[in-house]
Amino acid sequence: MAKTYDPNNVFARILRGEIPCKKVLETEHALAFHDINPQAPTHILVIPKGAYVDIDDFSARATETEIAGLFRAVGEVARGAGAAEPGYRILSNCGEDANQEVPHLHIHVFAGRRLGPMIV
Ligand code: IMP
Repeated sequence: MAKTYDPNNVFARILRGEIPCKKVLETEHALAFHDINPQAPTHILVIPKGAYVDIDDFSARATETEIAGLFRAVGEVARGAGAAEPGYRILSNCGEDANQEVPHLHIHVFAGRRLGPMIV
């Protein structure tokens, strides 16, 4: 069943320019900006411009161009942040059990320190 997108979620408002963000990259299909509450020295969020609730919704409904656009932006952000060496982590929370707070798909990019093993 398709998930209902809330057009007033905080990232939708950032996309409309109603809330400021510290922009890192903007392309036709994606926007990247610094997380307001960083969990690593580099903590950037990369979001699609289209209205998708989460990765589940995105992978089911987005066009190939949107999917490529988002993941090219993730790679560019990671490289641009100087994060590609010695490493970085990407993560996307999906749904309630994963503690997703903002119901617009976002890919977290963490870097800038040794991240250690992933704890779930
Ligand atoms: P989630 O738990 O995966 O949904 O992560 C939501 C992320 O959005 C958190 O890391 C928040 O710190 C971040 N966040 C919430 N509001 C804003 C904002 O207005 N600007 C930037 N980041 C935000």
